[in-house]
Amino acid sequence: MAVERTLSIIKPDATERNITGRINTFFEEGGLRIVAQKRLHLTRAQAEKFYAVHAERAFYGELCDYMCSGPVVVQVLEGEDAIVRNREIMGATNPANADEGTIRKAVGQDVQANSVHGSDAPETAAKEIAFFFSDLEIVG
Ligand code: ADP
Ligand code: MG
Repeated sequence: MAVERTLSIIKPDATERNITGRINTFFEEGGLRIVAQKRLHLTRAQAEKFYAVHAERAFYGELCDYMCSGPVVVQVLEGEDAIVRNREIMGATNPANADEGTIRKAVGQDVQANSVHGSDAPETAAKEIAFFFSDLEIVG
């Protein structure tokens, strides 16, 4: 296993409920380190660009509306096998299918408002990190 970095987003349903600290405890106790972090309110255009990979999916418009409906916390997580590890800690996309002990099981509300985003592969992690952070802003 190699030390990797991955992009994490705490979504508007979670910032709204003031549970960003609770969510980050899952990452830290799960062996990941927050090496960059900022709170943003995405514009519609930024949300559309970030989720462009999903542009053809039926939920794209609603997803973009949702992601710019309130603040988000964008962060870079670092650790052994961080991309897969983050996804394990997050749990399945639909909280109804997420395993016990995962973030989405604990705090996710529904398939859209599922509290966290995580990159799904090394190429997307690199692209998504660069979307939000410069090298100077990532401090390991
Ligand atoms: P994940 O976030 O687990 O990688 P996807 O990449 O498939 O999941 O989807 C991106 C995001 O789009 C999800 O996290 C969720 O917020 C939203 N989403 C996924 N599927 C649906 C759906 N069927 N209806 C509404 N929103 C969805
Ligand atoms: Mg995804």
